Amino acid sequence: MKIALVTGGSRGIGRAVSVKLAEAGYYVMVNYHTNRQEAENTLQMIRDKGSDGEVIGFDVSSQAAVELALGQWQAAHEGEYIRVLVNNAGIRRDALLMWMKNEEWNDVINTNLNSFLYITRFLLKDMLLKKWGRIINVVSLSGIKGLPGQANYSAAKAGVIGATKALAQEIAKKNVTVNAVAPGFIRTDMTADMDETQLKTMIPAGRFGKPEEVAAVVGFLASEEASYVTGTVVNVNGGLYT
Ligand code: NAP
Repeated sequence: MKIALVTGGSRGIGRAVSVKLAEAGYYVMVNYHTNRQEAENTLQMIRDKGSDGEVIGFDVSSQAAVELALGQWQAAHEGEYIRVLVNNAGIRRDALLMWMKNEEWNDVINTNLNSFLYITRFLLKDMLLKKWGRIINVVSLSGIKGLPGQANYSAAKAGVIGATKALAQEIAKKNVTVNAVAPGFIRTDMTADMDETQLKTMIPAGRFGKPEEVAAVVGFLASEEASYVTGTVVNVNGGLYT
């Protein structure tokens, strides 16, 4: 059984990625934080594709929660390992830096950056031992060019990009690749409060992207065919200059 874990698989991009990996034959572990019902809906979509999976609830920003949930899973599944990890869960807490509260900064750093450490470190050993693994981090245009009002989010995503490049070099010889996908503006709950009519005038493609358009790239990076692609950041942004 080929197993993949998608954090934040209950909605948006994570849901589309879960379905894409199911199409590729993966058993998909759908992580969620608060929305168990939506995670169950993702699982149903996975089953509709003829694959299977399970939902697994934990808060990616808590080291204790991550290690408890994944430790219990490992104990119950001896001999199996998670060969594809998609670090996708993320939040926004936008504010101009001058007025940014420590809490807004820390919540975004803990959820979008520190989660990368807690989950990747925990699952890496098995990938190295089995000499096959794929780690794909969902970052953002914001982490490449910076976006006003998102100093916390830009810092977190830029941090993940740096960690992606460093880790890729640490483990390339072990057949474990580490890449990042940087979406621009994608139509999900996260962007529901944005003025799409105004923002799309800046996007060469003239529209927001779809979660499936991000999932297609993640699906490629998770595949055997992508075995020589590591330490890179793939933009999925309709032509926005980065
Ligand atoms: P979304 O629709 O708001 O979904 C966010 C997902 O993350 C949900 O499944 C949510 O789980 C999960 N999540 C949030 N905090 C979590 C936590 N502490 N522990 C576990 N899961 C948590 O967002 P999205 O647009 O799909 O974004 C997915 C990723 O793409 C994020 O990393 C985001 O930064 C990145 N991104 C998005 C865009 C965009 O335009 N949408 C652009 C660039 C990058 P629950 O449902 O259980 O709350």
